[in-house]
Formats: sequence, structure tokens, C-alpha cells
Amino acid sequence: MRKGMLLVISGPSGAGKGTLAQRLLHRDGFAFSVSATTRASRPGEEEGVHYYFLSDEAFAAMEAEGDFLETATVHGHRYGTPLKPVMQALEEGRDLLLDIDSQGARTVMEKLASCVSVFILPPSMRELEHRLRARQTESEEDIRRRLHNAAGEMEQLPRYRYAVVNDDIEEAYTQLHMIVQAERHNTVRYLPEIR
Ligand code: 5GP
Repeated sequence: MRKGMLLVISGPSGAGKGTLAQRLLHRDGFAFSVSATTRASRPGEEEGVHYYFLSDEAFAAMEAEGDFLETATVHGHRYGTPLKPVMQALEEGRDLLLDIDSQGARTVMEKLASCVSVFILPPSMRELEHRLRARQTESEEDIRRRLHNAAGEMEQLPRYRYAVVNDDIEEAYTQLHMIVQAERHNTVRYLPEIR
């Protein structure tokens, strides 16, 4: 039986990861790895669907128990991928999508060499700023912080296996879809993890 694929997608806030992730979930049979975070929920976000919203104390307790595959501090808040659901999905042959930052992605790449990592790029920094402002979900201070962090995120690009520029959403999705199709046939998914 084929093992599940762990697909890690990263990219600066506003690069269009969210839209691409939704398509992978609805059209390509991926399940979403629901992260834990200490940030406040945004309008429309549901507990256990988009995130598990935790207090700083609850997050630290899970971390101390070794319950995370990876953790990172992003835009001043803690984020982490719960370990158990990931291992379970992979063992059962289900494909799982992780939308995480580059620090967390680095940990995952080190721990699970068979993961597939894709970096989503905006066509330009100017366009990124435009998109961040247009979605009107963050404060001005948050937008500035996200733009500043985007430059740092971009430097991590060479660590990823694939890069997709999201200029046109249809084209970007097609590219991601083809990457996924090819990777499902990677021999690594038919062999025990060699590590
Ligand atoms: P947002 O607060 O906009 O939902 O996410 C901010 C950033 O945190 C995004 O780049 C997202 O990919 C990242 N992120 C979300 N969940 C996790 C996680 O579990 N681990 C890590 N390392 N990053 C995460």
C-alpha cells in the first residue's frame, strides 16, 4: 500500500497559499493538518477547523509533552503542528497538507525526508503588499510586520523542493496539481522510511 504524502506549503502571507490550499483539499484529496496557535481567531475562523486556539500556557504544556511535530513563532505568536494526526494519516495512506512557515518547514524536512515541500511566491513584493491590504483582515501594524517577515521568508526558498509563482491562480494551481500527481508516484512512498 502507498504511504500517505506530507505536503508542506509555505510562502509569505498574502502569496495566495490559502486559496491554493483550499483547492488541494477539495480537488486533490488532501486532508488539512489543523495547527495549534496562540493568536486570536479571525472572523469566520472555527476552532478545530482552521486552528486550535490555545492560551500560551496550554501551548507550552503541549510542547513540553512532545505533542508537536514542529513549532515556530510567527508574527509574534506561537504555532505548532500536532504530531499524532500527522503520523496516523501517513500510516493510513492519507495525504496531508501542512500550511506552515519556513522555520517549521525546516524541522519537518529534517524529521520526515519524504515530505514534499513547495514554496509559493508572489509575483512581486508590490503585489504582495497590494493583496495584504485588499483582504482587510489585518491591522496596519500587522501588515507592516507581515511585509517585513516576507523578505526573510523568501530567503528560505532554496530549502524547498519546488517553487510556484502565484501570478495567475489557475496556472499556479495547475502547477501544484502536477507536482502532487508526480510525487504520488515517487518510489519513496512505496518503501519504508529510510532514516
Ligand atoms: P496566519 O496567522 O495568517 O493564519 O498564519 C501565519 C503564518 O503561520 C503562515 O505563514 C502559516 O503558514 C504559519 N503557520 C500556520 N500554522 C503553523 C504551524 O503549525 N507551524 C508553523 N511553523 N507555522 C504555521
